[in-house]
Amino acid sequence: MTQSAKWGVFLDRDGTVTEEVGYVNHPSRLRLIASAAEGIRLLNRASVPVLLATNQAGVARGYFTEDLVRENLDRLQEMLGRLGARLDALYYCPHHPSVGAPPYRQACDCRKPKPGMLLRGAREFDLELTRCYVLGDKIGDVAFAHSVGAKGVLVLTGYGLGEYTYQRQGWTEQPDFMAEDLVSAAEWILKDAQGR
Ligand SMILES: [Mg+2]
Ligand SMILES: [Zn+2]
Repeated sequence: MTQSAKWGVFLDRDGTVTEEVGYVNHPSRLRLIASAAEGIRLLNRASVPVLLATNQAGVARGYFTEDLVRENLDRLQEMLGRLGARLDALYYCPHHPSVGAPPYRQACDCRKPKPGMLLRGAREFDLELTRCYVLGDKIGDVAFAHSVGAKGVLVLTGYGLGEYTYQRQGWTEQPDFMAEDLVSAAEWILKDAQGR
């Protein structure tokens, strides 16, 4: 890692850090994926900023409030903290372009794969996005990465294994790496970053 070019890792939430259970409309539905805290800890120890970026269109859809999203994210940070891991930022998009009512129904620039949350992280943490990594369990997370020139890692937790097994013929984006889980993703990232 060079001192001048700062880089970081952006994480999807559902299916990547927490179990994919559909809409998390109560904090009790939030469950950590077994190895998630360990993967984040590896990045924390290497002093790499770790930023969460999650679409939460359930707000626009009227399934839950933005307050609940924040409560869920506080709880996530707390669960990780108990295991010695920390997210440096938690970003979410509560919008949807065509469902619900304003202000949540809007063609925002933060709903993934639009790059709003990446641009925000870059601004707030002084990151060079072409040196950053984005992890997620959907190929859309890889497209999200590539839209700003970052590397995209598909994790095979959540929807990842199904996306890989049944959908990959149709992929228009190729992951830079595929990882069993957050630990193997973090290990690959730390090695890959050293070589640049
Ligand atoms: Mg996901
Ligand atoms: Zn948005």
